[in-house]
Amino acid sequence: MDNLDVTTKKVKIVLKVGDKINILDKLKIKCNEKFKYNIIDAKIISVDNNYIVTALKKGSTYIEMFFMNNKTPNYIIKINVLNNAIETDIDDKNLSVVNICSNKYTYDILKNDINELCCIYNDILNYEILGKSYDNRNIYLLTLGNKYAKHILFIQASMHGREHMASMLVMRHIELICKNYYISEYKGIKISGILENIKICIVPMSNPDGVDISINGAEVIREKSLFNNISKVIEENNIHHEIWKSNARCVDLNRNFGCKWQYNYNFNKKSFMEYRGQYPESETETRLIANWTRENRPDICISYHATGSELYWDYGQKGLLLNKSMVIRDYLKDFTQYELMDRSSSYKTGVLGYSDWVSMYLGIPAFTIEIGSPFVTAPLSKEEFNNIWEENKFIPIELCRYVVNNIN
Ligand SMILES: [Zn+2]
Repeated sequence: MDNLDVTTKKVKIVLKVGDKINILDKLKIKCNEKFKYNIIDAKIISVDNNYIVTALKKGSTYIEMFFMNNKTPNYIIKINVLNNAIETDIDDKNLSVVNICSNKYTYDILKNDINELCCIYNDILNYEILGKSYDNRNIYLLTLGNKYAKHILFIQASMHGREHMASMLVMRHIELICKNYYISEYKGIKISGILENIKICIVPMSNPDGVDISINGAEVIREKSLFNNISKVIEENNIHHEIWKSNARCVDLNRNFGCKWQYNYNFNKKSFMEYRGQYPESETETRLIANWTRENRPDICISYHATGSELYWDYGQKGLLLNKSMVIRDYLKDFTQYELMDRSSSYKTGVLGYSDWVSMYLGIPAFTIEIGSPFVTAPLSKEEFNNIWEENKFIPIELCRYVVNNIN
């Protein structure tokens, strides 16, 4: 879809089975004339004469809209239709700690939210500090559920600075589960029951220096030589600080794991993205995550990134690991309707990150979930969050249920 007329607007809409919306109202288009449209998969949605879109079944499709006999579409609308029949009384209406009214989820906000949640829910939620970033910010690890449980679901977010909406998402996951812990059921089992045998371990912000650079610029970095290098990289590449991905040493953490690292030549000097570092695990942040994963060997590892609405799951794993990965992949697909990226698509980028490393070297099912519209570069706008939440809100509890059900 890269060769389209530049005037084509790309939009994403998330619906649930049975929802009806007026597509013109939704796009805020005032239109008195007829226009043409194509539906790519008419099993998923229908459109009537009054431009009311009805969501028919779970799945993902596109509508192309053509005004004034244009040859290229004026709009390409991606429509994700989610299942509305999940058997649960989990309530996500009155979550009051993690604020979703802004798309600037800074390290300071994270710190406050962690303190507040750990204070309110101190019997089920704990935090520890895995270590410090180069500019002296904490890398937090939160543990939710029975801390003595043998089984672990591991989730990490914001390894890339500009993808900080993922931190907001996983912090909201924590609040949702804590709030419903004693009172709600998920698919017929109490949440507290599910989390008796498995704990959820979350690093909500793996790259806090990078997040703060993306949100507020190089000036947030206090250490002089780090600041100078970052400023130089921003100036030389002529970029806005908001698209910063690397850590404060200008290394892309998700290119710094020891997975096919030697082939990863894309950028071989300090940069706002893609620089792999001097050697595998050269960076503190990478080492903390890698060591923790090696020592704790979670049952499943999830890495939240942005953007794309894509699921990376295929790293060439074989046998039992492949079978397990495919089952879990299908759960993730079922909730999110994100596009499944097979091995050829993940290798096309020529870069291998944390999930590849976990799957290929540790033999643990690992998934990279890319949240947000497929048509944009992070940081995501705050308007995207509600869709992302609907697609992802039950993923941690569903994966815990899956692990617990399959313990033998
Ligand atoms: Zn990323």
